[in-house]
Amino acid sequence: MVEIERFEGESTYEVTLRPNSWEEYIGQEKIKKNLKVFIEASRRRNEALDHILFFGPPGLGKTTLANIISTEMDANIKTTAAPMIEKAGDLAALLTNIEEGDILFIDEIHRMSTTIEEILYPAMEDFRLDIIIGSGPAAQTVKIDLPRFTLIGATTRSGMLSSPLRERFGMHFRMQFYTPEELGTIVEKASRKLDKPARSTAAKEIARRSRGTPRIALRLLRRVRDFAEVADESEISLPTTQYALNELGVNHLGFDEQDIQFLELLVSAKGKPMGLSTIGAALSEDEGTIEDVLEPYLLANGYIERTARGRIATEKSYEHFRLSMPGKDTLFE
Ligand code: ADP
Repeated sequence: MVEIERFEGESTYEVTLRPNSWEEYIGQEKIKKNLKVFIEASRRRNEALDHILFFGPPGLGKTTLANIISTEMDANIKTTAAPMIEKAGDLAALLTNIEEGDILFIDEIHRMSTTIEEILYPAMEDFRLDIIIGSGPAAQTVKIDLPRFTLIGATTRSGMLSSPLRERFGMHFRMQFYTPEELGTIVEKASRKLDKPARSTAAKEIARRSRGTPRIALRLLRRVRDFAEVADESEISLPTTQYALNELGVNHLGFDEQDIQFLELLVSAKGKPMGLSTIGAALSEDEGTIEDVLEPYLLANGYIERTARGRIATEKSYEHFRLSMPGKDTLFE
C-alpha cells in the first residue's frame, strides 16, 4: 500500500495489482481451461510448452497470462517488445541467454522486421540460430543450437502478422472483452488490495464504464479512489464513483471523449462510409491506434461496422445520439 502511494507511475501500480495465479485471473475462461490442459500435459512429458500467440486489444491481460504461464511452468520469463529487437544481434543475444524451458515473451510481435522474423523461424521450429557473419563472398553462416524454449507472442493485430510467423505458433488464443460482472470482480478485488474497498454497486459502476478492459477498469478505480480519499470515505461509494467518472469524462456506456468524437464523426457522414485516413485526420490520431484501440470495442458492441469502403455508424450509434438512421424511414417507400 505504502509502496503504491510512493510511486506515482502506472507501471508500479499495475505490477502490484497484476494477478499471478489462475485463481486471481478473472474471466477468459476458455483460454484458461485450454492452457491448464496444455501446461499439465507438457509438465507430465517434461517438455517445454509449444509456442503461444495471444491476440486482442491492449489491456485485456495478455502480458499477465504470459507471466502466469511462466509461474505455472516453473520457468523464467524474459519480456521484450518487437520494436526493441532491431538487429539480428539483439535477437541472438536474447536467445542465447535463455535456458531450457524458459519463456520469451515478445509483445507487439506484428511489428517485427522481416529480417528478424526469418531468424526467428528456425529458432522456433528447430531451436537453432542461423547467424550470417560478414558479408559478400566471405560471409559465413554460423549455426548455434538453442535450448528448447517457449515463445509467447502478443499482438493487437493478428491480421498484420505474416502467415509463416503465425503458423509457427502451436496455440492461438483470441482475447475477449470482459463482461461487466467479471470486471466488477476485478475492481472489487483490486480495491481491497489498495486498502480502499469499493462497495459492490460502485465496483459495478466502474466495471460498466470500462470498455470491457481490465486496464481501463483499474485506471478508473485508482482515480475514483482519489475522490473517495478526499471525500473521507472508508469505502468507495456509488455516488462518489458516479461523480468521479462524470468528472473524468467517461459516459454511462464507458465511452470516453475520443469514442464520442469518433461516433459523432461517423454519424455526421449520414450513412456514407468513411475511410480510415479521413478518420485519422479528423481525430488527429494515428490510424493504427484507431484500429487497435478505438475500434475493437465499438465493433464488438455493434456501434460501428467496417465495410470495404470504410467505417459506418450503426443504428445503435444514431440511437445513442437520439438521431434516426439515415435512409431507415425511406427503406420501404
Ligand atoms: P495486455 O498485455 O493485454 O495489454 P496486461 O496483461 O498488461 O494487458 O493487463 C493490463 C492490466 O489489467 C494489468 O494491470 C493486469 O493486472 C490487469 N488484468 C488483466 N487481465 C486481468 C484479469 N483477467 N484479471 C485481473 N486483472 C487483470
